[in-house]
Amino acid sequence: MSLNPMCCGSHCRRETGPVKVYPLGGGANLILCRDCWEWENSYRRGRGFKTGNNIENNFPTVNWDSAEVYGAEESEVSSVGVQRMSSINWDDPEARLALIESVGVAEYNRQAEAHRTNSTIETVNGHRIRPVSSRFGRLFMVGDTGTAFATLEQARAFANKESPK
Ligand SMILES: [Zn+2]
Repeated sequence: MSLNPMCCGSHCRRETGPVKVYPLGGGANLILCRDCWEWENSYRRGRGFKTGNNIENNFPTVNWDSAEVYGAEESEVSSVGVQRMSSINWDDPEARLALIESVGVAEYNRQAEAHRTNSTIETVNGHRIRPVSSRFGRLFMVGDTGTAFATLEQARAFANKESPK
């Protein structure tokens, strides 16, 4: 399980520390601590070698030092719309209901879709994998299958077996 509450990975060795945006391409990102970052890079190197692919093209690794710190840009954003969007806890059914009541169904659907798109960390076999918080801690939800896993690797494996969307 993830030790660093800000980190999407499952290889943290510390509970605190900066997390950074690991770009996956296609607009998807992972938010990772330093430990998970290095793990992801070595996973990619290993996968590139195993499949005989050109690592630079198919499994690009990302340099921690040149990456963007997650959350760093938020202090510069002062738009009311953006603040309102990021202020609700999408994992809380009561907060979602309160949002529907305050902005209406159409605007709620727009914000919910934006949230799903923004929080998608990886698309596997057509299924969007996104982190959700639950009473069991952070889980990785696979698309709209209603199935979530403790680790990203388990979610990837499940999404690969599901029929593609
Ligand atoms: Zn981590």
